[in-house]
Amino acid sequence: MTTNATAGTALPECEIQERLNRLLCDIHAATRQQVGYPVNQDFNYSALLPFLDYSINNVGDPFHPSNYWSNTHAFEREVIARFASLMRIDPADAWGYVTSGGTEGNMYGLYLARELFPNAMFYFSEETHYSVLKNVRVLNARHIMIRRQENGEIDYDDLEAMIRVNRDLPAVIMANVGTTMRGAIDNIPRIRDILRDQAVTSHYIRADAALSGMILPFVGDPQPYGFDAGIDSVSISGHKMIGAPLPCGVVLTRRPYVERVGRAIEYVGVEDTTLSGSRNAFTPLLLWHAFARYGDAGFRKLVAGALDTAEYAVGQFNERGIPAWRHKNSVTVVFPRPAPEVFRKWQMAPEGDITHIITMPHVTRQMIDDLVNDCAARELSS
Ligand SMILES: *Cc1c(COP(=O)(O)O)cnc(C)c1O
Repeated sequence: MTTNATAGTALPECEIQERLNRLLCDIHAATRQQVGYPVNQDFNYSALLPFLDYSINNVGDPFHPSNYWSNTHAFEREVIARFASLMRIDPADAWGYVTSGGTEGNMYGLYLARELFPNAMFYFSEETHYSVLKNVRVLNARHIMIRRQENGEIDYDDLEAMIRVNRDLPAVIMANVGTTMRGAIDNIPRIRDILRDQAVTSHYIRADAALSGMILPFVGDPQPYGFDAGIDSVSISGHKMIGAPLPCGVVLTRRPYVERVGRAIEYVGVEDTTLSGSRNAFTPLLLWHAFARYGDAGFRKLVAGALDTAEYAVGQFNERGIPAWRHKNSVTVVFPRPAPEVFRKWQMAPEGDITHIITMPHVTRQMIDDLVNDCAARELSS
């Protein structure tokens, strides 16, 4: 018997507890098998629980004073400064805020681009996260979807051909720094070469580094990814590599860009530089806490462990005759889509005839062994 709280009757306390406990059990069980999505399940933020007793709100620009004093803007600014350093820009030259996740970050980065270059053509590969197509539609921006290579990188020849026929327009390019499906990283220097060869001087490179933005700063030989490589804005998710109980992320850009947009909006009378009005004040604390606990050395260790597990997974799959592969510096292991029951059991994400696992820090070698066994057993029996 389940009582439906939506029927309008208050439930007895024990029944409320029972319903919640059952949900908690289900979530706990699901978490143990999770290998298909890029979310780190290893975290402990219990030190922050007392903040749930207050209605904190980060409304407005974190770098400007607010009339709503119960905020965590000071911590948010520290988080932004840390991410700025990781993305290789002087924090004094960077602006950003903590978002609700990658989709809002992409939206913000593309919105800024459109404000800077109202008649620009937007380019992104078909491997790009689904939020980008939605975002350019919301912005009513002219866009061209570029082919991808088999490994998930943008097809540079197709990009060059499309830019050539639109040479008279400013170019906004969405570069993937770790695609969702294959972990592919678009070659940013090569994209800049194409822009230079086509003499397109008005351009804006947007980087989507949802997952890899917290990997590349901590490896020895990263692919170019940061502001030093010529990007103009980037977003990184908080609930992916770092791990968080609530979805969140960060968007960063060059400070002068936002000052231009800020002026445009000032005429409605507010210092309204963010997309959302009321904003989550708890998620900046989560990120701050993670940075404070790990430090760079801690993240280097976390990332090295996840990359080791990925390499282990490729090896185990290959040993059993399953052609798994991954990109350099990627925790995304791509392999042929297994039988439906294996696929469901491990909560994998499909794309046509391939799937992937993402060896986040909570994914153990034991889980890999079990998964590889399941995949191999099914291959034999089919
Ligand atoms: C996960 C992801 C996003 C979107 O993140 P949400 O937080 O789910 O909005 C964007 N881009 C890439 C490449 C991603 O992997």
